[in-house]
Amino acid sequence: MSGPPDNTVTTTCGYCGVGCRLEVHTAAGAILNVTPALDGPANRGHACVKGRFAHRFTRARDRLTEPLIRDGDDFRAASWEEAIGRITAELTRIKSAHGPNAIAALASSRATNEDCYAMQRMVRAAIGTNNIDNCSRVCHSPTSFALLSSLGASGATGSFDDIAAADAAILIGVNPTEGHPVVGARIKQAALRGTKLVTIDPRRIELADYAAVHLAPRPGTTAAVLLGLAHVIERDGLTDRNFISASTEGYETLAELLPAYTPESVQEITGVPAADIQTAAHVYAEAGEASVIWGLGMTEHLYGSESVRLICNLALMTGKIGRRGSALLPLRGQNNVQGASDMGALPDVFTAYRSVGNDEVARAFEAHWGVSVPRERGLRINEMFDAAVAGELKAMYIFGEDVAQTDPNTTHVIAALKRLEFLVCQDIFQNETTKYADVVLPASSFLEKLGTFTNAERRIQLVEPAIDPPGGARTDFEIIGEVSRALGYDLGYDGPADAMDEIATLTPDFAGVGFEGLRRERSGLQWPVTADGVDSPILFEREFDLPGGRARFAALPYKAPGDSADAEYPLILITGRRLHHYNAGTMTRRTANVELVDHEWLEIHPDDAERAGVADGDLVAVRSRVGRIELPARVTERIVPGHVFTAFHFPEVRTNLLVGDSSDVNTACPEYKVTAVAVERVGDRADGDHVAVDRAVGDRAAVGRAAVGRATIRSGG
Ligand code: SF4
Repeated sequence: MSGPPDNTVTTTCGYCGVGCRLEVHTAAGAILNVTPALDGPANRGHACVKGRFAHRFTRARDRLTEPLIRDGDDFRAASWEEAIGRITAELTRIKSAHGPNAIAALASSRATNEDCYAMQRMVRAAIGTNNIDNCSRVCHSPTSFALLSSLGASGATGSFDDIAAADAAILIGVNPTEGHPVVGARIKQAALRGTKLVTIDPRRIELADYAAVHLAPRPGTTAAVLLGLAHVIERDGLTDRNFISASTEGYETLAELLPAYTPESVQEITGVPAADIQTAAHVYAEAGEASVIWGLGMTEHLYGSESVRLICNLALMTGKIGRRGSALLPLRGQNNVQGASDMGALPDVFTAYRSVGNDEVARAFEAHWGVSVPRERGLRINEMFDAAVAGELKAMYIFGEDVAQTDPNTTHVIAALKRLEFLVCQDIFQNETTKYADVVLPASSFLEKLGTFTNAERRIQLVEPAIDPPGGARTDFEIIGEVSRALGYDLGYDGPADAMDEIATLTPDFAGVGFEGLRRERSGLQWPVTADGVDSPILFEREFDLPGGRARFAALPYKAPGDSADAEYPLILITGRRLHHYNAGTMTRRTANVELVDHEWLEIHPDDAERAGVADGDLVAVRSRVGRIELPARVTERIVPGHVFTAFHFPEVRTNLLVGDSSDVNTACPEYKVTAVAVERVGDRADGDHVAVDRAVGDRAAVGRAAVGRATIRSGG
């Protein structure tokens, strides 16, 4: 389509947690192009290849446009009335036969705050269970646990603007130029202007080229590096004694632990040269202002939550917190993973992380909702699958999440989905999970809905519809409202703005948040927001949100990861993301981005490749203790010897078949980042079966062999 736009809508990107503001230009109800908003507070006139160009999925030929009901091995099209009638009948039957806890639901970190809030309210009030979770469970739940435990609030302590204001920054287990490209560019700019970087990652990420020092610990040993940094800071007198005594507790216990973590002993554990640990500690502690930025390479470990507490220790030892330039910045993966959790789409908390067991809080929700709600915590995602396999969980309602591709131990997940008596999926495409559904509801993308997202800075920003959902698809908010009403519980909203008003009424941290104010205040609002609309770019300027206003040190020793290499599985697999695709690739694989990257591959160091007899481009099999996949190899020095890397953007490869069920000790976040594997050559360059998607894209073209296959099989054409 060409010609000038007849409308432009400013909205928030629906891919990653940076939260770029975008201008979507449309003509005759179709998207012409997308440009970055010049005044976006997180992106300041920039956007990446996903936000700018990956929008054609909205009109992909295989987009779900009508409800589907299982009919034997296939699906048949159904009316909304019939589909919702089937859902109501099945959930009501299961609830009366087995109780409300036989039903569980997943909200979506891709959806808006209002969608997630409505979903958790439906689950708690209409069904009567706390069995609600979202995919923060499998990414940043350790961050949330650690920040709440050490500081008292589950969010970044500052903003992306702190990066430019920092004299130094440590990046741990994060690859922003690929995973969060606009923030990656801001970090690069800061480094070029003089911010000293320390990068800590088993892979040599691009930003390592801009760093004062790059530390490459063995996967799963980063906690030892953090203890080594703390050791040097204490040993060399770089602590802020005034801050420690005025604002924290528990330092003495940590100080007793630190002597064991000399740089030399940490080198033994991690492989990082002792001299580099000393350099990194001095870069951070001697800077006037310094921030720490981390990602899933930090959290998706057996002791991920404990490791994030060790990051908090560094900031507290040096007093580098609560000031411009000195921030703790976890880079959230999904666009609204912060918001989905803030909204209480978790099994143990209401909005703003207030316990479901807190009688006073629960009574406030009960008074507003007009029903009683359970006080005991519900099931986490992994527990839902265990309970389904055990025959205790009978039904699931999965909203905007492809658990059969993205969750670990895929074989177990599929066994759970198969064992359910009833599965509802609410999504925009057929995917690996909908294969097991009884009812599939056609939903809306971020370009078709109204609401808010909360980015990795705690910034609540408006999402405005640029186009309508296609065919008979509906907005998620509308669907959840209709299902709840059919279950006999009317949420009573006229639209998403009503839901946000209710959130503000029931949640002190959101007291001043409303759609009208967000339309006026183009920079969004960073929670907590007072009733008169004052927000909080920086947390903990005066005190911490813990008893006595004091932060808590964590004296936690290093513990080995859950998996390790051995003779049979001599390499460690690390999984992650690539620039051009997003998560399960459901959206980006249906756009022109697939012309840039059209398949998955395994990165392997030349030494390991030679040992395994693998040449660049060969097809290899990767075996772990729980699964096996095949994909092409790319021989590269970007990965250090002993390790291999791949992403999980292409369902044909099913990377998560390899990942076992080891998970974080406090939050059950899977240990995606440490899997022992063996690699063997099985053939020449992939013959096409491993090339995921045809190059032609969008509504003018076929979406690849696999995707078309699923659509044909599943929707009955
Ligand atoms: Fe969207 Fe993230 Fe890219 Fe910004 S950096 S345009 S939020 S995907």
